[in-house]
Amino acid sequence: MWRLAEAAQAQNWYVKGLQTRLAEIERRIETACLTAGRHRSEVQLVAVTKTVPLEVIKAAYDLGLRHFGESRLQEARPKIEALPDDIVWHFVGRLQSNKAKAVAETFAVVHTFEKGSQLVETAKSGRVINGLVEVNIANEQQKAGVLPEALDKFVSELSNYPQVRFRGLMTIGPLVSEAGLNRPVFKELARLGKELGTEWLSMGMSGDFDVAIQEGATHVRIGTALFGERA
Ligand SMILES: *Cc1c(COP(=O)(O)O)cnc(C)c1O
Repeated sequence: MWRLAEAAQAQNWYVKGLQTRLAEIERRIETACLTAGRHRSEVQLVAVTKTVPLEVIKAAYDLGLRHFGESRLQEARPKIEALPDDIVWHFVGRLQSNKAKAVAETFAVVHTFEKGSQLVETAKSGRVINGLVEVNIANEQQKAGVLPEALDKFVSELSNYPQVRFRGLMTIGPLVSEAGLNRPVFKELARLGKELGTEWLSMGMSGDFDVAIQEGATHVRIGTALFGERA
């Protein structure tokens, strides 16, 4: 009995913390929207739940969140199966071509298209999914994504695949000491998106989402600020 009570108390304490952090994130999103003259409804919070246990995701769901992001198919599958089906699941990890078909069968949105072989495999699922193209704006060696100069070519290749509904662009800002340093990166992604006439801009994470929203983000992908440091 004592142990059960203790566990319940710990759970309670955790949910309180989650609620507080979510409220703080909401406040920051609203402030950034206000600063930029944008409406709150233009920004979708995607809660990134990689390494986050099922019960915690369930608590986030109970607090009203419906968009969740995962970066590995194997980790995501059991969570997706166990959780309610009104959740919109976003794939935000590196997309291995040999898993692309299964990812398309499992997720509603894929943020990380960057090469032809992924498209070929995705099309085999027969489902239509929302797709974003990841752009390596800062031309970082270790990072995935299409280079800006190769974007037009990749987007025209993408148009051959009706199974991928091309919605916009995604980028991961470089690790910086101060969020404002990523402003030029976000500005550039927004410029490229505008040029292509797309609506969605997936940019901004725990450290820099305020700046990303000021620069036009429609999807912010937030893990740490919501769930705490990952193990
Ligand atoms: C892990 C991850 C995030 C969340 O990062 P935080 O800094 O924890 O908010 C966002 N986007 C992608 C692609 C990720 O892999």
